[in-house]
Amino acid sequence: EEGPESRVQSPESRSKTQDPGLKTQDSGPRTQDFREPHHDTVGVLALDAAGTLAGGCSTSGFPLKLPGRVGDSPIIGHGLYAHPQHGAAVATGNGELVMGTCLTFLAVELMRQGRKPNEALHACMQRLEESFRLEEHHQVGMIALTPQGDWAQASVREGYRTAVRHAACDDLIDAR
Ligand code: ASP
Repeated sequence: EEGPESRVQSPESRSKTQDPGLKTQDSGPRTQDFREPHHDTVGVLALDAAGTLAGGCSTSGFPLKLPGRVGDSPIIGHGLYAHPQHGAAVATGNGELVMGTCLTFLAVELMRQGRKPNEALHACMQRLEESFRLEEHHQVGMIALTPQGDWAQASVREGYRTAVRHAACDDLIDAR
């Protein structure tokens, strides 16, 4: 099912709405309009040939945060969780939604209980919808990966892409 119309911009449309009046620190050609709802923590999951899982995320791509705000990214079980036997998950988007549902822990716990990554992430999206009154600007995207190499992505609405790389694939895949 498609969600309501998204106000979260795609990377392409973002670059078209750059405000030449607001320069980044190096005052080079890159500019950004901070009036737009930007966020997007980068989350990475990896699996080596020996079956070892690893995960990482940036410390939050959410600009102009309230002083003292700690987002979901640095908190294990919220923005990132990995278990050597059961799988790993990362989340990006509105951290308050992720933190209110312990979302990556939930994804890995569901995989521990036997759900496949796509089933676990589907359940996570349902949990978000049950737990919050989601508004048009709300967005959460997730990736999950098992030690066997099964993986899935899901998001509340369109706008995220997952870069996938393994022996048979080197691609950018749209979420939803
Ligand atoms: N999840 C981040 C936060 O709320 C924001 C983001 O993913 O861009 O801090």
